[in-house]
Amino acid sequence: MLPAATSISGSSERHEPKRTCVVCREGGGSGQFLELGLIGNDVVLTPVSKGRGAWVCATRQCLEKLDNRVLARAFKTKVSMDAIGDPVAFCRDLASRRLVESLGLARRQGVVEIGVEPTARALSRGEEGVAVMADDLSERSTRQLEGATVLGSSEFVGRAMGLKRAGAAWIPAGAMAEKAALWAGLVRELGLPEQNDEVVESAVE
Ligand SMILES: [Zn+2]
Repeated sequence: MLPAATSISGSSERHEPKRTCVVCREGGGSGQFLELGLIGNDVVLTPVSKGRGAWVCATRQCLEKLDNRVLARAFKTKVSMDAIGDPVAFCRDLASRRLVESLGLARRQGVVEIGVEPTARALSRGEEGVAVMADDLSERSTRQLEGATVLGSSEFVGRAMGLKRAGAAWIPAGAMAEKAALWAGLVRELGLPEQNDEVVESAVE
């Protein structure tokens, strides 16, 4: 599902539990699904430690078909989607916020390379990892960063990592990249929220 720039080597070889999407019934590893939980009768888009979990593909197609009927069947009980509302809009916000959080965390852990050059280099070498780029770069830089996930202005990408600005960032393969890859994929799939600036404000607090 994810293009080469965000695929993480080895993840397919590990023995992950098989998941099945509640909408399309396709199975696969956890890296391509969003986990749904149940709190009371409310469906939430976070894993719930106790109780049943369910999974949905991190794709627009399956998120659009997520409804009470599908979820009631999955959880085998009456459910409410009030906590999620429109799943596509909800996941668009969530993906942007989680990707911003991943960048901040990667920066604090020292596992991110910042700037157009190192990111473009990693991409051109076909290295495994997650590439993020700004939407206000020169044509040349934009070309060099093909395959990277566009996250917002240079200021926006920078602020995610506690910097004034950053044109691009690269999270090399590892635990951090594995998490970020799901959110980066979803950002590419669903686009960015209209109020993206508010998303980063709340995520970097
Ligand atoms: Zn699906």
